[in-house]
Amino acid sequence: MNPTTPGQHYRTRLNDARTVWLAGERIADVPGHPAFKGTVDTVSSLLDLQEKPDTRDDLTFVSPGSGKPVNAAFLAPFGKEDILRRHTAFRIWSDATFGMMSRLSEYSRSLLTGWYASRHRLGGDARKGFADKIARYYEQSRDGDWLSTTALHDPQIDRSKGPSEAGDPDAYLRVVKQNREGIWVRGAKMIATAAPYVDEIFVFPFHRRSSADLAYSTMFAVPVGTPGLHVVCRESFASDRHEDYPLSAKYDEMDAVIIFDDAFVPWERVFIHDDPDAIWQLRQDPAAVALSQHQTVVRLISKLKFVAAVANEISTAIGVTHHLHVQEKLGELLVQVETIKALLAVSEELAEPDGETGVWLPAIDPLTTARNLGSRYYPRATGILRHLAAGGLMQTPATVAELDGPIGPLVQNIIAVPTFPHRSASGCSSWPGI
Ligand SMILES: Cc1cc2nc3c(=O)[nH]c(=O)nc-3n(C[C@H](O)[C@H](O)[C@H](O)COP(=O)(O)OP(=O)(O)OC[C@H]3O[C@@H](n4cnc5c(N)ncnc54)[C@H](O)[C@@H]3O)c2cc1C
Repeated sequence: MNPTTPGQHYRTRLNDARTVWLAGERIADVPGHPAFKGTVDTVSSLLDLQEKPDTRDDLTFVSPGSGKPVNAAFLAPFGKEDILRRHTAFRIWSDATFGMMSRLSEYSRSLLTGWYASRHRLGGDARKGFADKIARYYEQSRDGDWLSTTALHDPQIDRSKGPSEAGDPDAYLRVVKQNREGIWVRGAKMIATAAPYVDEIFVFPFHRRSSADLAYSTMFAVPVGTPGLHVVCRESFASDRHEDYPLSAKYDEMDAVIIFDDAFVPWERVFIHDDPDAIWQLRQDPAAVALSQHQTVVRLISKLKFVAAVANEISTAIGVTHHLHVQEKLGELLVQVETIKALLAVSEELAEPDGETGVWLPAIDPLTTARNLGSRYYPRATGILRHLAAGGLMQTPATVAELDGPIGPLVQNIIAVPTFPHRSASGCSSWPGI
């Protein structure tokens, strides 16, 4: 069958002989494997929303290159309205996944859009070619609907030493050979979330390199199917028991270590070579930072709203909302949501054009504040959820199927009645996506 929808095109692209390893075995069919199937299905259903009449206009804009609708994460904003368009598109995907998926590509697409918007900012001889290369790559990604992730950190071997001081020079990612066509790279990067089922990986050092580490100071992008590139996955949390694991069955974003075994990267995909200062400048580029953090904060709201809603439903269903401390905890969850929403609104309200590039950016300080609060809020929110649900988490039967078995009628008697319809005739909850 010829692919027709964006989701079908995406699935076809995953059959590129990529080398994905899970528990020591090479995965031949990523979209069909139980560890990835639910998540790939989710990603492809999100891509299909780009063509659905209800969501198409909110998720896309018309590419000046192809004249076709493309994902709004590639929209370089030239006004507040564009920033709000990006916000709406991010919200639709993150609400559809309850904020559980951090690497639906809008983050790395936003980085790329930021670098594209400020591509002429990077001066100097060693950087020449960057503007043309990043513009070409951005246009290919945008018009090809490429999904991407990042792999930025060195493997955790000895954090007290720089890569050139480490015992084994091949452990950390470095350039081992180059010619007129490109470079060959060897070594590892951690962690690349979503790597097994995206199209592309952006690779560069997260931390500032010194001039002693030139061979380790390269910024490039590779297709996941590049020969010599190994994607080594962590243990899978996915389950094909959708009713019992409604979240991990659909949203288990696989995390992976990326190992390059003398993989070739053509020069057109090598954005910066042997230039730690240029990479550091791009890492801090105001457009890339603001556009990507904006997406992170939109998703954080979806995630906090979800936990607040579940905590509220459970507390209501088990009849504990009359306790003052329960009300206080539910209130705290709402305060979390409203605080992050307010910071996001302020960042958008204070948006202004970036002097050098003319691209409009949400104000960075409220976004950074929201991100920092988020890393405290979320563990606190899940802690509150556990506190309020208490022993009910253990009272839950091992499987929903038990409800239809011989003990079912007796077990049914001791289940609190949710305020929202829990199971429809098809056995699925009425909450979208669960
Ligand atoms: C679930 C998950 C998904 C991820 N996904 C991605 C991804 O998609 N792409 C990507 O590029 N990365 C990803 N990462 C990597 C992530 O960005 C890093 O794990 C994170 O930045 C922390 O760095 P590290 O793990 O190298 O910790 P380390 O730097 O090894 O730190 C270890 C400990 O030492 C402390 N420490 C280290 N240095 C200092 C210092 N100078 N001063 C004080 N304390 C210090 C740290 O606080 C920490 O407690 C992911 C990580 C996780 C856990």
